[in-house]
Amino acid sequence: MTDYDLVVAGGTVVTASDMYRADVGIVDGRIAAVGTGLRGQRTVDAQGLLVMPGGVDSHCHIEQLQAGGGADEETFITGSTSALAGGTTTVITFSTQFKGHGILKPLAEYRRRAAKAMVDYTFHQIITDATDEVIFNEVPQVVASGVRSLKVFLTYDPLHLDDRQFIRVLAAARRTGALVTVHCENYEAIRWRTAALLADGRTEPKYHAWSRPAVVEREATHRAIALAEMVDQPIQIFHVSCPEVADEIVRARARGLKVWGETCPQYFVLSADHMDRPGFEGAKFMCSPAPRDAAASEGLWKLVRDGVLDVVSSDHSGWSYDSPVGKRANGTGAPFRDIPNGVPGLGSRLPILFSEGVSKGRIDACTFVRLTAFNPSRLFGLYPRKGTIAPGADADLVLWDAAKRVTMTNDLMQHIIDYTPYEGMEVTGWPVTTIRRGEVAMKDGIVQAQPGSGQFLARGPYDMIRPTGNVPFGFDASTFLV
Ligand SMILES: [Zn+2]
Repeated sequence: MTDYDLVVAGGTVVTASDMYRADVGIVDGRIAAVGTGLRGQRTVDAQGLLVMPGGVDSHCHIEQLQAGGGADEETFITGSTSALAGGTTTVITFSTQFKGHGILKPLAEYRRRAAKAMVDYTFHQIITDATDEVIFNEVPQVVASGVRSLKVFLTYDPLHLDDRQFIRVLAAARRTGALVTVHCENYEAIRWRTAALLADGRTEPKYHAWSRPAVVEREATHRAIALAEMVDQPIQIFHVSCPEVADEIVRARARGLKVWGETCPQYFVLSADHMDRPGFEGAKFMCSPAPRDAAASEGLWKLVRDGVLDVVSSDHSGWSYDSPVGKRANGTGAPFRDIPNGVPGLGSRLPILFSEGVSKGRIDACTFVRLTAFNPSRLFGLYPRKGTIAPGADADLVLWDAAKRVTMTNDLMQHIIDYTPYEGMEVTGWPVTTIRRGEVAMKDGIVQAQPGSGQFLARGPYDMIRPTGNVPFGFDASTFLV
């Protein structure tokens, strides 16, 4: 008797809270049962493997439109391929706004482009120009369409918002029931230090880190939290690079605020020294905030164990090293200020975190699942459809060989970017099969999903991001359209 379309048999199921031997029975792309002795029309043998929820990468830049025209090199097809190769089945990418323009048209364009995806997807809506039209008219429409998170930058030309604009975004999110995610660095402080470094002839990639020390990230994190507290709007701090920044989140939580923190694999395994490689090579490791040092990295592990940093995303960013539209867009001699920021990481996120975390004994496998699938699903309104292995959930699974040793190369990443910052890195633990909504989408490194098979995930209202109700003097200023 076959009760299931597909049974993943004999593996060790790992969820955010449990780890046990069981079969997973799948019907119509969803998990129908977790138990023993299940029989299906087809069986995938998972003996000796971990069976975990497919990765949910809640921060990756794919086919993002550029202000000057064109888009990121990484397309929804190549980005999906890299994601599936690395065990990730859901991504949250970005719809951006250009100053002087609205957000509805670009979002429609992203929806059109993302229709080619092979992983399930949704968007964070970036706000760079908080005009009345955008804040009062367009944001409510975007949120109602299922894009239930707004992203802001407190630094970068021409993206950054000043405090008043940021407050208006926070208030709009509170009115519409969206989460706000924040890139925290102090815009003016970085500009000032950058001008001084360039005046002193210090232009090489390594000075990228010098231009934005941890204090500029800590200051902006503190400010973002304080303003969110005033508005009573839940926020997630993106890509926390070191413990002194995370301390701001610890303090906020002690006051009862809904503030969450994300970090990324690069902050565990890269440091400012990587940007000091000879010639232009340091550009491969440039991202913002800048990677710090070994002590900061080790400190981040304690923070993920304590649950202060509860999401590990890739912040995948598409810039090839040798391409005229990539890191060398402004020439090989370009000062650090003019070198595109960001490192690729969609395919390497899970292997690095598993190897450095689980294989090296810093976290257990359940914590790995919490950081990479369960928590991002809950925080962004995708749970319980995504992020767990339970009846009713989408059958998104990654079958993981915890003992497999792999030397990482760019070819294994299967992204369009021409390098990985982790070339030559040895990892223990590797994804051998990825199943997306009941379909084997990757087996032994061969991605076999069809373009267009990914689905847009419209996100409805959810409790986790409900405001606390505590506003100064009991006066909720966000109810006024100011
Ligand atoms: Zn990013």
